[in-house]
Amino acid sequence: MKNNIINQAEKVIATTYKRVPLVIKKGRGCTLWDSDGQAYTDFVAGIAVCNLGHACPEVASALASQADVLFHVSNLYYTIPQVELASWLVGHSFADRVFFCNSGAEANEAAIKLARKYFHDQDNHDRYKIITMKQSFHGRTFATLSATGQQKIREGFDPILNGFDLVPFNDIEVLKRQISDITCAVMLEPVQGEGGVVCSDPGYLAAVRQLCDEAGALLIFDEVQTGIGRTGKLFAYEHFNVEPDIMTLAKALGNGLPIGAMLAREEIASAFQPGAHASTFGGTPVICAAALEVLNLMEREGIVEHCQKTGDYFKDSLLALKDRHRVIEDVRGIGLMLGMKLNINGAPIVEECMNKGFLINCIQENILRFIPPLIITKEEIDALVSCLDEIFINHV
Ligand SMILES: *Cc1c(COP(=O)(O)O)cnc(C)c1O
Repeated sequence: MKNNIINQAEKVIATTYKRVPLVIKKGRGCTLWDSDGQAYTDFVAGIAVCNLGHACPEVASALASQADVLFHVSNLYYTIPQVELASWLVGHSFADRVFFCNSGAEANEAAIKLARKYFHDQDNHDRYKIITMKQSFHGRTFATLSATGQQKIREGFDPILNGFDLVPFNDIEVLKRQISDITCAVMLEPVQGEGGVVCSDPGYLAAVRQLCDEAGALLIFDEVQTGIGRTGKLFAYEHFNVEPDIMTLAKALGNGLPIGAMLAREEIASAFQPGAHASTFGGTPVICAAALEVLNLMEREGIVEHCQKTGDYFKDSLLALKDRHRVIEDVRGIGLMLGMKLNINGAPIVEECMNKGFLINCIQENILRFIPPLIITKEEIDALVSCLDEIFINHV
C-alpha cells in the first residue's frame, strides 16, 4: 500500500519537493500515524502551521458548522466570519485593517504592492525600492522570490523583478548606507525561519524602525512563520517593542487551512482602494470561521504562555545537549522556533529520528529545526532530546 502510493506520487505529482518516504494518514495533537500504523511525535507541524496540533477538534467543528451554512460568496459581499476575524486581528495588533488572501507569499505580495501604491498615490514615483535581508525567505511568487535573499530560491528564474536591494541581516551600518529617499520599505522577518532560525539582535529592530522613520520609508514585518504565538508572543514584534507599518501572516493562522493576511495601519492601508488588489478566495467564510476559532482557542487555553514556557524548557534542554556533544555548534531561536546548527550534515540525523518515531526537519544542510505544535508537552520534548542524545553519542 505504502509503496503503491509513493510510486504513483512519483508519476503524477510535480517534482517540486524532495519527500520523506512516509505516507501520513492520520494526526491527533502532536502525533502523526503513517500508512503502516507507525506513530511519530511531530516536531515539524507542517512547517510551523499546525500550532494547535493535528485534527484539532474545536477547529474541525468550527469548520464543519460554517460549511453547513455558507462556504463562499466572494468579496463582492460582506460575510460575518471575515469581519469577526479581521476585528480579532485588529484588536490584538498594531494594525487597523486586514487584507485576506490564501498564503504567505500572497500576503507578502500584497504588502509589496501596498507599499509601492502608498508612495505612488503621493506622486512619489521614485520611491519604489524595497530593502530586504540576505538569507531571508518571503515566498515563491515572482515578487516574493525577488525579495528573498537566497540565491538558490532565485536560481533559474532570472531576470527577477526590479526594485529589491539586499543587505546583511542584523547589520545596521550597511542598512544606514543603503536606505535613502528612493527606499519605499524595509522588509524583514523578526526571526529568520527558512534562512536558519536567526533572531534579530537586541536593539536591531528598533534601530531599523528609526532609520525607516528618518528616511520616510515603511517597515514591513514578514511574520508568516513567527506570528500566531510561535515565538512565545502572539506576534514576534512584541518581543522587541517595535511596531511595523505592515505585517504579513499565514502559516499558523488557519492551523492547516489555507489563509494569509496582510495587516496595516489606516494611513497606509487606505492606499488600497476598490480595484487596486483582490483575491477570489481571500477571507472566504468557511476558512475565516475556522481561523477565528484558532485564535479564540489559543486565547482561552493560554497557548502563547505555554509556548513561552515550554520553548524556554526546550531550548535549555538543547543547550544541555550542546555541552555534551561536539557536533553541535549552536542552539538558537525563541519560543518554539528553535534551531540546532551541526558541524555535520543534518539529513542522516533527521532520518535516524524518524526511525525512532520523531519527525524533525533540516534546513540549510546542517541546521536542525524544531517547530512543533505549540501544545507540545515537556514529556514529548524530553523524549526527543534523549533520542537526539543517543544519536549523537553514536556520531563521535
Ligand atoms: C513560509 C513562509 C513564506 C511563504 O509562505 P507560503 O504560504 O508558502 O507562500 C513567506 N515568508 C516566511 C517568513 C515564511 O516562513
